[in-house]
Amino acid sequence: MKTRLHAIRADITGLSVDAVVNAANSSLLGGGGVDGAIHRAAGPELVHECRLLGGCKTGDAKITKGYRLPARFIIHTVGPVWRGGVNGEADLLASCYRKSLMLANEYGARTVAFPSISTGIYGYPIERAAQVAVDAVRAALEETSVIAEVTFCCFSDEDLAIYRSVLG
Ligand code: ADP
Repeated sequence: MKTRLHAIRADITGLSVDAVVNAANSSLLGGGGVDGAIHRAAGPELVHECRLLGGCKTGDAKITKGYRLPARFIIHTVGPVWRGGVNGEADLLASCYRKSLMLANEYGARTVAFPSISTGIYGYPIERAAQVAVDAVRAALEETSVIAEVTFCCFSDEDLAIYRSVLG
């Protein structure tokens, strides 16, 4: 199946997709940025389910229900903190995208939206992160069967322009 990849500018909490990905921290108990926005929009039941998950390692992903979001599922992944780029950041970031898509595929999510993982509070340079994101998604889609559309949900026009140029 040919999966459609595209970038838009939007608040990810409002997207009507099967699964939205959350750029979480390893506690999975909520934080700032997109994580805070997702927890606020999903409502307090989300943190109750997250408490049962026992955290999440950097580069890994876990899935919950979407609660009050339009999305049926939330996939929580923990991106790397940028520490100069020589500490395995690119592999860990690629792993976030890959593990998230594998979970989406397993749960039958046909449409998936990603925020720009690690490029906010975690400081990953956006141009590099966008290239890692697009490459990792394209590679992972070789191994999935149900995913029909992947959306890169950018929060600024600058980020959107970078993702669109990487997507070509
Ligand atoms: P991290 O800690 O992984 O860097 P952040 O949440 O700080 O995560 O930032 C990741 C990206 O999510 C940034 O590009 C930020 O602008 C963006 N972002 C913040 N809020 C939202 C939102 N509601 N919808 C989509 N993207 C968002």
